[in-house]
Amino acid sequence: MPSKTSENWIATPASKSLSGRLSRDTAPEMLLRRALHREGLRYRVHTRIGERLTLDIDFTRARVAVFVDGHFWHDCERHPRPRPGGPNAAAWRVKFEKVDERERRAERLLAKRGYRVLRFPECAIREAVQTVVSEISAAVRRR
Ligand SMILES: [Zn+2]
Repeated sequence: MPSKTSENWIATPASKSLSGRLSRDTAPEMLLRRALHREGLRYRVHTRIGERLTLDIDFTRARVAVFVDGHFWHDCERHPRPRPGGPNAAAWRVKFEKVDERERRAERLLAKRGYRVLRFPECAIREAVQTVVSEISAAVRRR
């Protein structure tokens, strides 16, 4: 019998490898953080901004918030996120909706605090980290 969790999650071989993907310190995030640091920019990471809400890279004084959008949870222009089927299709849809909702909540909170929010898909970071750094750097220095 597959085990069920409180979210009606049915354990499958696929869900095992997919669970816990909403993680911090992902490879593209680390790549970006190292590049920002090399550029002389200083920031805080994983600042808590509300109930179950954190922001990835926080330029506190300049009030610039940076999010690294992994392809698993986020659509980007070139890489639509997966639409898992199987016995958990409905549960996945709920999970994706929750992620979207949390994101909108984070952006509203940050806007209220006068933050400028920048989001970058992981492919942009992997392919042209220096371009991303320049954009962030310009935003931070402008404030
Ligand atoms: Zn992409």
